[in-house]
Amino acid sequence: MAAEIIKVALIGNPNTGKTSVFNQLTGLHQQVGNYPGITVEKKIGVCKLSEHSKATIIDLPGTYSLNASSMDENVVIELLMNKKDENYPDVVVVVSEVENLKRNLLLFTQIKDLELPTILVINMSDRMKLKGIELDIPSLERDLKTSIALVSSRKNIGIEKIKELILNYESLSKKPCLNASSIDVEYFDKLRKAFPNQLLYKLWLVITQDVNFMNLERKELESSFTKSHADLRRLQQKETIKRYQFINDILKKGQKIDSSKASDIRAKLDRVLTHKIFGYLIFFVVLFAIFQSIFEWSKIPMDFIDSSFGNLAAYAKTNLPKGEFTNLISEGIIPGIGGILIFIPQIAFLFLFISVLEESGYMSRVVFLMDKIMRRFGLSGKSIVPLISGTACAIPAIMGARNIENWKERLITILVTPFITCSARLPVYAILIALIIPEGRLFGFLSLQGLTLMILYLLGFGMAIFSAFILNKILNINSKSYFVVEMPSYKIPMFKNVSINVLEKTKSFVFGAGKIIMALSIVLWFLGSHGPDKDFGNADTIVLEQMQHQSEKLDPAEVENKINAYKLEHSYIGILGKSIEPVIRPLGYDWKIGIAVVSSFAAREVFVGTLATIYSVGNHSDEETTIKDEMKHEKRADGTPLFNMATGVSLLLFYAFAMQCISTLAVVKKETLSWKWPAIQLVFMSGFAYITALIAYQVLK
Ligand code: GDP
Repeated sequence: MAAEIIKVALIGNPNTGKTSVFNQLTGLHQQVGNYPGITVEKKIGVCKLSEHSKATIIDLPGTYSLNASSMDENVVIELLMNKKDENYPDVVVVVSEVENLKRNLLLFTQIKDLELPTILVINMSDRMKLKGIELDIPSLERDLKTSIALVSSRKNIGIEKIKELILNYESLSKKPCLNASSIDVEYFDKLRKAFPNQLLYKLWLVITQDVNFMNLERKELESSFTKSHADLRRLQQKETIKRYQFINDILKKGQKIDSSKASDIRAKLDRVLTHKIFGYLIFFVVLFAIFQSIFEWSKIPMDFIDSSFGNLAAYAKTNLPKGEFTNLISEGIIPGIGGILIFIPQIAFLFLFISVLEESGYMSRVVFLMDKIMRRFGLSGKSIVPLISGTACAIPAIMGARNIENWKERLITILVTPFITCSARLPVYAILIALIIPEGRLFGFLSLQGLTLMILYLLGFGMAIFSAFILNKILNINSKSYFVVEMPSYKIPMFKNVSINVLEKTKSFVFGAGKIIMALSIVLWFLGSHGPDKDFGNADTIVLEQMQHQSEKLDPAEVENKINAYKLEHSYIGILGKSIEPVIRPLGYDWKIGIAVVSSFAAREVFVGTLATIYSVGNHSDEETTIKDEMKHEKRADGTPLFNMATGVSLLLFYAFAMQCISTLAVVKKETLSWKWPAIQLVFMSGFAYITALIAYQVLK
């Protein structure tokens, strides 16, 4: 017998523990995707109900009511209104929680009026005693015409009851709670007469919300039932008042709260954590700790991944039969996979911290604190976390912008985060600063080199904020802001929620952006290791001949370095680097720097390695010093040093602003669901970098 599959929609206000209930019901049987065309996350999970039945559970975005004010809320209405949707539910599970029952029930009564089989979950029952709350479940069930499961998803209590109710969904009441026509008797009477076969509350939603409702002719509705916008708002407000009156009456009978038991720890904590001075101080300490740990803790696994893949590539190269295919594996695919996996530690740690902050309730306080400042620049209070984590790496940071609900604020955050100085810029900065900035000290204690590094960090941050400000002015995106910042109570984070979240984010990076990173790294590998046959193919003989000609001593290591340098110079990337020389000469760069700039498009830190190859510096233990020496002695045609102050500053500025990272572009594509935004980012950032570098060189030379 084929298993019966029941379709369930999970709906609820934010912070009611909806995600926890979803995780308890489905465990790891979850799939995360996107709603077509928009960036709202779509989660579907499978839950086994009995031997023969399963439920597919769709976890809808948290919403306060069916009067949509955001993209997330629209998703909920569109699903509930559209019987033809493949996920149209057989039964709706509304999640509420013991402490905010009154507000949670507003959404519940609206959904009930759509006359679908509906189950009410009252979550966080473990907090009832602490808060002195008592509930008369049979009375509530009677008045709300529903079946209730009293649940603690934290303690895994009541989950079986939800499954049982879902399994028997056909016997659930479909009666509405409230008579919709009581909102405005005359108006609704007219509606009913015009569309006798339609559900009144659905009609009302179609009129007030801009939703697709396949079976109805909107035009027809609009012509005979248009009211002014203000009138509709007034009626909506009336609806809300009616609903709250109804809910108040019911709760008077079904709920008892002993207010003396409500503890005031929360109020005290709030006072400190959102304090005008201490609030910020504490937040910066927390941020600093997170930032440090992302850096410190990820270093070990990252080094491990790096060296393992290095070894694996070397192993493949020596042990597989020589040939193009082996090269592809050892120089393209293995480093490509390594280049994806290396981000996992940072992504995992960042999301570990973000979910702990969110779960504990602290994130809402942060938003409250930072919102006012950040909003001036078109960012959200939550943008501060991506911006700060961008100092480690833009990849996890951009993914971290996911918890910003407002699409415009999220997009701006994604677009400006790559300006923040990430750790991949450090090796580039380090070598350039060491080259051009003297070691002296300002006022006897401020190291000039350190100062320069700090200025570069500030420059990145300033540029991010500045471009956010500009983008906020020019981006014409209509997305309403949340005016309410909800302050959920403080809780100890649930292990299951945190771990599922970390796992999911990592997975979505590896399989989403990872594919693009892989493809682009193979392309770059190909361009770097292939070239027109005349020079590239005969590199060995040509270099040997040259060296003999110069009657140099033939040290095998040196010969190999020279061959590698020659190959790189004559590869497609080398040709590209040389051919852009006219464009980059005004910035003070020669073709060697050109090649390094082109190949470091894969990742900024490649800049130093490429220069090492071009200057045919071998694998000495102290590679950096030798490259530095090489760079120092590099001369222009007129005999002056190539890496003087002007070229150095120009390069520093170029790397501070240019979008030199394919992995970031891949992640932006993944997060914005279009190539448009990464393309804009690439053109704008690199264009800006070019112009500033140009000005710097021309002024300083
Ligand atoms: P959502 O915003 O509705 O998806 O809510 P989450 O599932 O993210 O949970 C919000 C907060 O409530 C988190 O801190 C959870 O750890 C906490 N939480 C969830 N379920 C329970 C519960 O049954 N009891 C308690 N005490 N806390 C819970």
